[in-house]
Amino acid sequence: MSAMKKVMAGVDIGGTNTAFGLVDSEGNVYEKNSILTKNYPDVNEFVAALSGAIKELAGTGTGYELAGIGIGAPNARYYRGTIELAPNLPWKGVVPLAEMIGRQTGVPVTITNDANAAAVGEMVFGAAREMKNFIVLTLGTGLGSGIVIDCGLVYGHTAFAGELGHTTIVHGGRECGCGKKGCLETYASASGIVRTVLYLLSEMNADSPLRNMAPSAITSKIIAEAAAGGDPVAVKAMSHTVEALGMGIINAIVFSSPEAVFLFGGLAKAGDMLFNPVREYVDENIMPVFRGTVSILPSGISEDNAATLGAAALAWNDFER
Ligand SMILES: [Zn+2]
Repeated sequence: MSAMKKVMAGVDIGGTNTAFGLVDSEGNVYEKNSILTKNYPDVNEFVAALSGAIKELAGTGTGYELAGIGIGAPNARYYRGTIELAPNLPWKGVVPLAEMIGRQTGVPVTITNDANAAAVGEMVFGAAREMKNFIVLTLGTGLGSGIVIDCGLVYGHTAFAGELGHTTIVHGGRECGCGKKGCLETYASASGIVRTVLYLLSEMNADSPLRNMAPSAITSKIIAEAAAGGDPVAVKAMSHTVEALGMGIINAIVFSSPEAVFLFGGLAKAGDMLFNPVREYVDENIMPVFRGTVSILPSGISEDNAATLGAAALAWNDFER
C-alpha cells in the first residue's frame, strides 16, 4: 500500500458561500466541497460544520494526510488568526477562527485576507513562482491587494497592510464602504465601473443599450461587452477606469518597485481591452526611472480554483517551506 497523499486544505470564506478543497504541494486540487456561510449565524456551528466537512473530505477514498489548513477570509488578521469586524460575514466582533478550527481538526491553521491569499497562490502555484517582488490586485466588488516584497507577503504592524483599494485617488470623491471618500476601489473595481457608467449615462446624450437596463442589472461584464461593440458610454467608462486603475498601479509601483502587477477577478476578464490601455497609461505617466520595469499581467491561476489554491498555498508556505 502506498503512503497517503499529503495535502493542505484551502478554505475560502465568503459572505454567501465557503468553498474548500484539498491541495497537494504541486497545486493539484483533489477533493472539494462547500457549505453556505449564511446558514451559520452562530460561529460555533460554522466551525463544527466546516471542520467536519474537511475531515470528511480527508477521509475520501483511501484517505489523505491532512497536514494543515489555510483560510482566506475578509478582514482576517494573520498574526492573531482572527476575523475582525467583517461587515459581510454573519459573525460580529473578533472571531478567533484559526484557533477554533485547529481545536476541532487537530492540525495547524493559518488565516489571511482573500487578496493576500491570492498573492501567496500566485507565488507558490502561479505565474510569480520565480519573482521576488510583485503585487496582485483583485478587481471584484472591491479592489483587494496582496504585496510581496523580497519574497515575503507584506503584513505590516497590524497585519492589515496592503489596502491599496482604500488609497485616496480623488479628494472628496465617491463614498466608499470603508467610510472614506474617493478610494481607488470606488473607481477601479467591477462595481466602480458600474458606478462610472451610471454617472456617464446621466452626463451623456449618446444612444447606448445600457440606457434601457435597470441599474442593478448592469455588470462589469456587460460593460466590457458593450465597449467591445463600440458603445460610446461603455468605451468612455472603460477609459475612465483605465485611468483610475493606472493611477493606483503607478502609486503602488513607486512605493514598492515590483517586477509585475497581476490583475485578477471580474474586471480583469475584460482582457486586452483593459490590460493594453492600462499598460500604455502606466508607461506614459510613471516616473521615468520605473518606465519599462514592470509587467502588467493576468493571473497564472485559473479562476475556478483560485481562492482555494491561494488559501492552500498559504498553508504550504507557512507549514512546509
Ligand atoms: Zn475605502
